[in-house]
Amino acid sequence: MARARARSAARRVRGRGAVPVGEILSGLRAAWPSAECALRHEGPFQLLAATILSAQCTDAMVNRVTPELFRRWPGPAALAAAPAAEVEAVVHPTGFYRNKAKALRGMAAALLERHGGEVPRTMEELTALPGVARKTANVVLGTAFGLSEGVVVDTHVGRIARRLGMTRETDPVKVERDLQALLPREEWTMFSHRVIHHGRRTCTARSPRCGECTLAPLCPSAAREGAAAPAAAGAGGRSRP
Ligand code: SF4
Repeated sequence: MARARARSAARRVRGRGAVPVGEILSGLRAAWPSAECALRHEGPFQLLAATILSAQCTDAMVNRVTPELFRRWPGPAALAAAPAAEVEAVVHPTGFYRNKAKALRGMAAALLERHGGEVPRTMEELTALPGVARKTANVVLGTAFGLSEGVVVDTHVGRIARRLGMTRETDPVKVERDLQALLPREEWTMFSHRVIHHGRRTCTARSPRCGECTLAPLCPSAAREGAAAPAAAGAGGRSRP
């Protein structure tokens, strides 16, 4: 059944050809053996807060802000009780600071009220928290708890999946559906980590370095002699959820 779904997804995105999933996974593993979540954190609560802050913001900026955030409000009780203006001032550099401060305080309050101050381990419970959509929940479930509930699809994952012929979709939910059908479940978390690394360092949005890419022999978008990949391969946007 799972194999049939994978074959169906492959046909949908590559016509009669098949997506060389095993080779793509091997190439990513060889290129980025120790890829991991770039958001610095200790434990599920910090990862959840950092991922909320990472919307429309680089991980580097989030990592500059979170030490002060967690120093002042180290857990849900402290953060839920923190004055809004003070949280806003701390998270200001990450952009959309009013919404993010509201989401952080609301998330912390909801953890206290519904989950005894702990981060829940299900998609349904996580996405019911303020400021937490499916992508954020996937980050927390996969990275903090080692649970493969979904594939994290950010701008890098979406762009590279299209370039590799793994999907034609642009909607992240549909991209995730195609990737789930193609990839073995146990690979979902590391695939995202490695593709995000690949997107930052090699398969960048504007100037993919096809000439030095380990996936080039497998990639229908590989440009000749390292020239920019075809526009149809898909353009990317800002970094990160
Ligand atoms: S060959 Fe080029 S377009 Fe394909 S994954 Fe590598 S860098 Fe990206």
